[in-house]
Amino acid sequence: MQPTHEESHGGALGARLNWLRAAVLGANDGIVSTAGLVVGVAGATDSRSALLTAGLAGLLAGSMSMAAGEYVSVSTQRDSEMAALAQEKLELREQPEAELRELTDMLHARGLSREVAREAAEQLTARDALRAHARVELGIDPDELTNPWHAAWASFLAFTVGALLPLLAIVLPPPAVRLWITVASVLAALVLTGWSSARLGAARPGRAVLRNVAGGALAMAVTYAAGALLGAVGA
Ligand SMILES: [Zn+2]
Repeated sequence: MQPTHEESHGGALGARLNWLRAAVLGANDGIVSTAGLVVGVAGATDSRSALLTAGLAGLLAGSMSMAAGEYVSVSTQRDSEMAALAQEKLELREQPEAELRELTDMLHARGLSREVAREAAEQLTARDALRAHARVELGIDPDELTNPWHAAWASFLAFTVGALLPLLAIVLPPPAVRLWITVASVLAALVLTGWSSARLGAARPGRAVLRNVAGGALAMAVTYAAGALLGAVGA
């Protein structure tokens, strides 16, 4: 990936961009998996209640699975961040001189002169040594560790919003056009999510959009074929 100005913001803006990007990707997941599901069922049956049941079950299963996965992964990350902070705290208590030298070296490595790095390290240590080490050494802010419940809710919501599109597109229109309306609206939405996630990740959107749309189209084609096949043999 090319370095761009957006990566250098770091901190709060960087974190917000990451959240936004995760939300877009979550919505994208909801769109593709639910679209594949309802289009597959539509290949087998015209029943609106079967489509609604399948779509709703897919929405709930997907959003809960995303939420649970996110909860587990963020909890694990939080645990290791807490362990690193505890370790840092211990080192600061037992060997403050070595820690001051370490902080000085890291600031020096980031471009400050020896003298300025030493002075900065002393001031940071005097104010809040743990915070300084957490930020410079571990790259985390001890006051802003990600909350696993927030992360879980965010993925649940993002997936649900995405999943609602194919669900509504397949159950609301008249049977004759429901498939085409679903396919068209899903592909249009995938252009949007592909473009946004590429922009938020500071990548060029062209290829990202193409891959995203191709992936969604393939998912719907495969599940439709499977559904039509099963429908035809009366399974
Ligand atoms: Zn340290």
